[in-house]
Amino acid sequence: MQGYIDCHCHISAEDFDSDIDDVIGESKKAGLVALLAVAEHAGEFEKIIQLSQRFPGFIMPCLGVHPVQDPAQPRGAVLEDLDAALPLIEKYKEHIVAIGEVGLDFTPRVVNSDAGKDGQRQVLIRQAEIAKQLNLPLNVHSRSAGRPTIHLLKELGVENPLLHAFDGKPSVAMEGVKAGYFFSIPPSIVRSDQQKLVKQVPLESMCLETDAPALGPEKQVRNVPSNISISAEYIAKIKGIPLEKVVEVTTQNALRLFPKLKTFIKA
Ligand SMILES: [Zn+2]
Repeated sequence: MQGYIDCHCHISAEDFDSDIDDVIGESKKAGLVALLAVAEHAGEFEKIIQLSQRFPGFIMPCLGVHPVQDPAQPRGAVLEDLDAALPLIEKYKEHIVAIGEVGLDFTPRVVNSDAGKDGQRQVLIRQAEIAKQLNLPLNVHSRSAGRPTIHLLKELGVENPLLHAFDGKPSVAMEGVKAGYFFSIPPSIVRSDQQKLVKQVPLESMCLETDAPALGPEKQVRNVPSNISISAEYIAKIKGIPLEKVVEVTTQNALRLFPKLKTFIKA
């Protein structure tokens, strides 16, 4: 398969409501063959499913509860946040390609107590169980929680997670690599200090993502899925390999990690 796969994108964000057709059109022109639409809370699940039906074979839905809830007044997720989500995950289990976005976020403004961290852990544990039952991979967020996230996933016996925009130490990432985990690199890598991570994690364990509308190459500017090439070009530069190789291997990795893509992609 030729082209890029964006393994983590918030295409249901309000930022794209007014020009979604143009955004998808530009993405295809830029060589994107599919994007994984991740969710943050149950309130956007139906929108993600509708978008996947409006752009069949291109927008691939993932449903899950993010470790940070209520962006206006950020707080850690708790088990009650799963109440509305679980019936919808069950309802759409045949349609989704992964459970996500799930994970841990120990940023102090989100959680500042052990109880808060434990709440997030419980939410991740429950969703990892569901993913296992449904035989689906996990699309995982970890911020200020690289080590606890990888260790918890290993403890739970999770075999197939994607660690998106990993901000932990490269040595911790390598523990994930040894466990067969994948790491996706967003366009914001060009302004981050994670160059070492890109150097150390082998291409065979890497995927591409945009996390659009967040994590773009420029701060405060709306990120779009067509920026996926920025991640690929950066990896090619740091690793000193041809861009085509990066595209080919990361796309193969995505198809391996998210096996349902093969049957859904219409490119
Ligand atoms: Zn995200």
